[in-house]
Amino acid sequence: MTAALIDGKAFAAGLRERVAQRVARFVEQAGRAPGLAVVLVGDDPASAVYVRSKGKATTAAGMAGIEHRLPADVPQQALLDLVDALNADPAIDGILVQLPLPSHIDEQAVTTRIDPDKDVDGFHPVNAGRLATGLEGFVPCTPLGCLMLLKDQLGDLSGLDAVVIGRSNIVGKPMAQLLIAESCTVTVAHSRTRDLPSVVKRADIVVAAVGRPQMVKAEWLKPGATVIDVGINRTPEGLVGDVDFAGALDVAGAVTPVPGGVGPMTIAVLLRNTLISAERRENVVGEG
Ligand code: NDP
Repeated sequence: MTAALIDGKAFAAGLRERVAQRVARFVEQAGRAPGLAVVLVGDDPASAVYVRSKGKATTAAGMAGIEHRLPADVPQQALLDLVDALNADPAIDGILVQLPLPSHIDEQAVTTRIDPDKDVDGFHPVNAGRLATGLEGFVPCTPLGCLMLLKDQLGDLSGLDAVVIGRSNIVGKPMAQLLIAESCTVTVAHSRTRDLPSVVKRADIVVAAVGRPQMVKAEWLKPGATVIDVGINRTPEGLVGDVDFAGALDVAGAVTPVPGGVGPMTIAVLLRNTLISAERRENVVGEG
C-alpha cells in the first residue's frame, strides 16, 4: 500500500467544530441562531434517515433545525405554499427540500421556488449560474466537500489534470465548475465516454460520481493520482464506492475510503452553507 488515506470523517468533524464556534459568535451578534428548515415529503426510509441526521447535526452546531413533514399525497401547491412561507420567514436562513419527491410533484417547480439566497443545497438554477460565472452564491454540498478534501490534500490545484466521472447537476457538473475555478484542466466523463480507462489514466485528480460499485479499476489510475470516491453503493458485502479501493491503495497517491471519505463532508458543508447564509442575511462578518 502506497496511497495516503483521505480521512473525510476527521476533516468533517473539524469543519463542524469550526462552524459551531462561528455559530456561537453569530448568536452573540445577531441575537438569534441560524435557522435551517428541512422539508420531508412522504416516508421514504432513506430520506427519513438523511433528514434525521441533518437535524441532529444542525442542533449539535448550535443552529435551529426546523423539520417539516408532509404526507406522501400532499398537493404540490401545499408544498409550494410552505416554501413561500419559509422564504418569507426571517428566522430561516436555509431551506432544504429532501429529494426525491413523490412522482406527482414537479421537482423543478419546487427547487426553483426556493429563494436562491436561502438555497443552501445550491440546486437552484440561479446558484448553478452563479457558480458557472464566478459569482457569490451557494455551491452544492457534496462537490464543495470534495474540493475541500482535495485542497487539504494537495494545496494549490492549479494546472493539474482532473477527470470528473459523472455529469449530474448535484455532483458531476458543479464539481467540474469548482475544478475549473481552481485552474485545473478538467475532463467530464459520462456513460457515453469512449475509452474511459485512458481518459482516467492522464488524470492527477479523479472524482468518481457514478453510482456503480468499484467501476474504476486500479490499473486505470495514473500512479500517484488523488482519487475522490463519491459513490455510495449498497452491495451484499456492504457499502462500497465507485472505485476499486483495495487496488487503488497500491497505485494512487491518496484516496478517500467509502464509508468515511466524502459522505461525512456533505452534512458538514450544509451546516457551513447555512451559517454563511445567516451571516450574509444579518451582515455579520464571518471568517471566509
Ligand atoms: P446520477 O445517477 O445522477 O449520475 C451518474 C452519472 O454517472 C451520470 O452522469 C452517468 O452518465 C454517469 N455514468 C453512468 N454509468 C457510467 C459509466 N459506465 N461510465 C461513465 N459514466 C457513467 O448520480 P449522482 O451524481 O446523483 O450520484 C453519483 C453517486 O454519488 C451515487 O453513488 C450517489 O449515491 C453518490 N452520492 C453521494 C453523496 C454523498 O456522499 N453525500 C451525495 C450525492 C451522491 P450519463 O449522464 O451519460 O447518464
